[in-house]
Amino acid sequence: MNRLTKDAEQLWSLVIRGRAGFRCELYGIDHIRCSFVIEAMHIVTRGVRNIKYDQRNGRSGCTAHHKFYSHQRELWAALCMRLWPEDWEYLIQRKWHISKPRPIREVIGELLPLAERYRVHYLPHQIQALEKILERNRCVERPSP
Ligand SMILES: [Zn+2]
Repeated sequence: MNRLTKDAEQLWSLVIRGRAGFRCELYGIDHIRCSFVIEAMHIVTRGVRNIKYDQRNGRSGCTAHHKFYSHQRELWAALCMRLWPEDWEYLIQRKWHISKPRPIREVIGELLPLAERYRVHYLPHQIQALEKILERNRCVERPSP
């Protein structure tokens, strides 16, 4: 995997988890006991490339929930539909509407300011990773506020 893709994936994950304050967004929703190790989960599989880095396509969840639902695609779809109907609608429309994935630099430019916004939630190693990504992508164009 190339550097830019890695940066985009890491930023997306920071944004998704940071937005939720690094909590499992599925806590208490079912019989699964949260592990409290937090990952970013795709609502619609990352294989659908045009929405792979979409903020609306991610939720913060613990490894226990992530693992369980990654083997239960139908349950996962039903759960997402119930919990986040607007995001689900939005994503499904884009899933079937074939479009080219956005250029990776554009994705990074959009995710960087968001990742910075949630900085207060990051651990030291995550801040360090963010700093490195910032350094590498100094010249990337950001959307105007
Ligand atoms: Zn959980």
